[in-house]
Amino acid sequence: MEKLAIFGGKPVRETKIYYGQQNINEDDVNAVVEVLKSPYLTQGPKVIELEYELCLNTGAKYCSVVSNGTAALHLACLSIGVKEGDEVIVTPMTFAASANCILYCGGTPVFADIDLNTYNISVDSIRKKISEKTKAIIAVDFTGTIVEVEEIRKICDENNLIFIEDASHSLGGIYKEKKVGSLADITTFSFHPVKTITGGEGGAITTNSKEIHEKISLYRTHGITKENQSFINCSEGEWYQEQQVLGYNYRITDFQAALILSQLHRLDHFKKKRAEIIEIYNTAFSNMKELTLQKETNNTDPCKHLYVLQLNFDYLTCTRKQFFDAMAAENIQPQVHYIPTYYFPYYQNLGYQYGLCPNAEKLYLSLITIPLYPSLTLEEVNDVIHCIKKLCAYYSVNG
Ligand SMILES: *Cc1c(COP(=O)(O)O)cnc(C)c1O
Repeated sequence: MEKLAIFGGKPVRETKIYYGQQNINEDDVNAVVEVLKSPYLTQGPKVIELEYELCLNTGAKYCSVVSNGTAALHLACLSIGVKEGDEVIVTPMTFAASANCILYCGGTPVFADIDLNTYNISVDSIRKKISEKTKAIIAVDFTGTIVEVEEIRKICDENNLIFIEDASHSLGGIYKEKKVGSLADITTFSFHPVKTITGGEGGAITTNSKEIHEKISLYRTHGITKENQSFINCSEGEWYQEQQVLGYNYRITDFQAALILSQLHRLDHFKKKRAEIIEIYNTAFSNMKELTLQKETNNTDPCKHLYVLQLNFDYLTCTRKQFFDAMAAENIQPQVHYIPTYYFPYYQNLGYQYGLCPNAEKLYLSLITIPLYPSLTLEEVNDVIHCIKKLCAYYSVNG
């Protein structure tokens, strides 16, 4: 038995690696520099080019690129008129922004529980949470695993609800030959550096609805339009513009758009690299009784953002915290995704109770996120596997 680094043994690695890392190359740098030398730092051609390419890439009719993924979610809720008295069903196994966007609009997040195989929002739980007040469902492709699109679509059609997909983790994924971005009524993306492609910050919204797209465009820029044909009052001249709703400045800069565009050109490559690493991990971990692996949704070809392991405490003598700390000491820094949203004091103060989503709560206690990013070398992947096996052997009930 190897002595764990946390107890003074030799760590698996000398230098630390993390659960995620952005991938920036010369082309990315040049794309940004080119914009910096151009006349337009914002509201220029790169934003339009990126929107066009994201439409091509996702198969969606319309795309709006915005300042970040949270702004994308906020605009999605605004565009369908979420307001006080409306309920929106959402998973708690996500980043807080997936539910915060509902609150921004005065609506009420209603948390549905997750499925213990895919860790995504459970279709059965959604059905139980629908009320007269339900307006929409925000389904999150947790780790890149695509939600049960067809079933959710059916529920939405039956109950006249809008299907919003938070695809912050899943750009590049495919569900039954259709790309993420063209599956739901509205899909949102994030280009934060931990995500699959990045602009430093950035977000996008895709939809096939012209009406929703136009609302999003309006809300993105202060609620002000410069387009003659959409004026409410008569134009007073060339300078004329009109604020029609209370909007925001959720624009992105052109140099960020250029970076995202350059990264988008490598998405297929990133997807392939990520899939190769996952294949190696799955082979290494699938027959270990101390671990349970996340299952993919049927008929999907996901582009995975995170790799999570579920610790099986029937066969381990440690806690998740002990496992986490021991792993960090081996110089492989894990993370935990996610603390159920309603555990946060802010949500507790709104009256959400522990026990609301038992599956999500149970899963939260046992999940750990291990490194997954395209530039991870085979040697590093093997270090991760070595580390996990070392910890499992040490903490095994039979050990
Ligand atoms: C990252 C993320 C967001 C928010 O995106 P930002 O660009 O950081 O605002 C929303 N939802 C999920 C699931 C995310 O992972």
